[in-house]
Order: sequence, then C-alpha cells, then structure tokens
Amino acid sequence: MKPIVVLIFVMLLAPLASIQAIEFADHFEDATLRIDYFHTAHATCDEIALDEMTLSDTWAGNPENSLAPTENGRYAIKVVDIASNKLLYSRHYLDIVFEYKGETPAKEGQKRTYHQSALIPCPRQPVRFTIECRDTNHTLHPVFSRIIDPNDRAIKREAASRADRVFAMVKNGHPHDCVDLVFVAEGYRTEEFGKFKTDSQRFVDYLFTLEPFASMKDRFNIHGVFRASAQSGVDYPAERRYRNTVVDASYDTFGSGAYVTVFDNKTLRDIAGKIPYDHVIVLANTDKYGGSGFYNSYTLFTSDNERSEEIFTHEFGHGFAGLADEYIAESYFDVYYTRGVEPLEPNITAYLNSKYVKWAHLLTPNVPLPTPAVEENDGLVGLFEGAGYTKTGMYRSCLHCVMGAGGLPFCAACQDAIENVIEFYSR
Ligand SMILES: [Zn+2]
Repeated sequence: MKPIVVLIFVMLLAPLASIQAIEFADHFEDATLRIDYFHTAHATCDEIALDEMTLSDTWAGNPENSLAPTENGRYAIKVVDIASNKLLYSRHYLDIVFEYKGETPAKEGQKRTYHQSALIPCPRQPVRFTIECRDTNHTLHPVFSRIIDPNDRAIKREAASRADRVFAMVKNGHPHDCVDLVFVAEGYRTEEFGKFKTDSQRFVDYLFTLEPFASMKDRFNIHGVFRASAQSGVDYPAERRYRNTVVDASYDTFGSGAYVTVFDNKTLRDIAGKIPYDHVIVLANTDKYGGSGFYNSYTLFTSDNERSEEIFTHEFGHGFAGLADEYIAESYFDVYYTRGVEPLEPNITAYLNSKYVKWAHLLTPNVPLPTPAVEENDGLVGLFEGAGYTKTGMYRSCLHCVMGAGGLPFCAACQDAIENVIEFYSR
C-alpha cells in the first residue's frame, strides 16, 4: 500500500477462522525455508515461476499458530501434507503485484514481473506448496502449485554474509515466543552505521510509546541488520536522481511521488535472513517524505522527514497488521474494493449494522450509527462514514486514526487488530 495522505496502501485481516491444531514438531523442523519466485501479472493474469529455495536456522513463528488467523490478505500461501491432504501451514499477504494489476498498463495487457519470497517452516516430508489469489469477491484461486521435497539438493544451505552487521535493540525471548522484527538499512554508507543504529533505536523507542505496543513490549525481539550501500539515499526518478543502494528502493512507484518500494527483494531477504524474523522493516536514509507497507511482506519508511514517526506508524500498521487506509482517495478505491463486498481488513467495514461490525465489542454504548464526524464525537467508538478511499458506504471506528488523515494514535479497531497479531506471533 501506499503512503498516507499520499500514504496509500492496504491490508487485510479477517475474522478468526477455525484453527486446527497442528503438531508443529511432527511436520516441521525448527528452520526457515525461503521460497523465492517470480510473479508475472497483468490485470487478469497471474503467472508464478520458482526461482530458488534457501534454508536457514530457526523458524521465527509461533509453533502453536501455523495457520493464518484471519482471511485478511489478497494472496495466500498454503502447505499441505501430501499423504493426508491436511493443511499444515498458511499465511495471507499483500504484495505489489496486486496493485500493479490495477494500473493502466496492466489493464492494457502489459505484463510485469516482480521477485517475491515466501517463508515457511521447513517441512520434514515432501509437501504441496500452493499460492492462491483472491478474486473481487475474496474467493481464493490457486495460481501456483508444486511439490517441495526438503531433501531436494537444489535447496541452498549457505551461511549468511559475514559482512552484515547485526545488533539487538529489544530482546525478550526465543523467536518462537516473541514477535521478531528486523530493521534493514537502505541507503546508508559504511560510515553511516552509527546513524542507522541511532535512527532505528529512535523509531523503536517511538513505537513503544504507542498502544498496544507499549503494553506488550515484552512480547517483542527487535534487531537491526546493516549492509552498507555504495551511496546514501534512495532513487528519486522524478528528478532523475539515482542512488546505488542495497535493496534498490525507489520513489515514484506507479508514478506516485511519495510511494517508495523495494526493487531488489532477493537482497532484502538475504540481509533480513541473517536472523529469524516475522516482519521486516526497511529504513531508508533520506529526509524526503515517503514509504509503503505490504501486509506480511514488508514495511518501508524514511528516516529524517518531520513526519517520519507518522509514516512509520502508518506503514507498519499496513505491513504488520494488515490494516486498511482510513482516508479518502477515490482514485484508489476501485483497485482495492468492490461496492457490496465487505472488506477483509479489520479496521473498515461496509456494514452499517452493529450486529455485523468487526469491532462490535468495542462500540460505545448507545452510540448513534452512523456516527456524525464532528469533533464532539472524538473519543467515541462507532461507525464514522468515510474510509477505504471512499466518502460513502465505508466506515471506520473512530474520528481520528493514524491510518486515516489525521491524528497519531491508532483507533480502537486498529489497536484491537494489532493486539491480535501480537498474540498470534507470541506466547
Ligand atoms: Zn484505525
């Protein structure tokens, strides 16, 4: 998703689905299998081809929660036991391919290819690995399927680069028991290692001033990983300014000035994979406003803009918790939503009915529905019209939220959703 107020972007979370207990150790080793693939698409086409597979020590996830907690996410990866056909592992996510499919060239049939990675716990036996894509009614359809044999000699078992520098900022326990975040440096030269450490720590400290992070800090491990870029900054094509940087981040994604995304996913995953992680955050060394956030994929924001804290919070809401944008930008609506179809994200709804609202348990008693968007209603939890890029027919829980146009804290629905994600990853 894109950056706020220009910060666009979207995420999906959904109702807690039925969760089958999976005996993790029966099916998986404590190791991460990274499956790299190329995703080629236009508006009505998805083609996926395997690139490489890489094995690394330790699985970051909570072994008690192998299956996606909600339906939120435009794509799904699934790992199925071949003998029993039992679903062993699933995750839902959003990536840039979904947004490309809404762009004009894609609608005209021009294909474009993006490199992506799926991280799964390493299976003990051969499994079927599937990638599925949702249609406009949210129904999932398989677009790729392959048997993966963990003994395949093509699976690389290389040691991580010894040149990358790792440092801990928050440490509370084993990766299985905690939310594991990793900050990756983008556009920092060798001599700027100290600046990256200071910048990362500043935003980590800021994150834990916000709820629900402040109350749940002991659930987190946070590391930084530094690989030096040849130059400072990131690409800024609008001014024909290009920088040689490690993950090749660039402004102007899809012609949207402040939309900064990563164009070298493989290197990003190599760097982040130095330690086990649940979510990767790219910190780009520039004072320009910009960022992006893709649910269960990555968060990116810039270091030195006067609004960097707000950008970080907003994009992390997308990337980590799959939150939707709560602001209005009609031109983006059609890419993400269909009138009459309830969004998957936990913080917006098309229902004007307290019985069906995702945050029904949070509604202020006797709150009027819809809830008039006037300052005297600041503090109420209700149904405020205007969210998911559109002025009408879509509702948010509070008057202000960092996922919307104003106010820094997360609203009630967003806080609740983030709490659920933290609970999912930790124990
Ligand atoms: Zn919100």
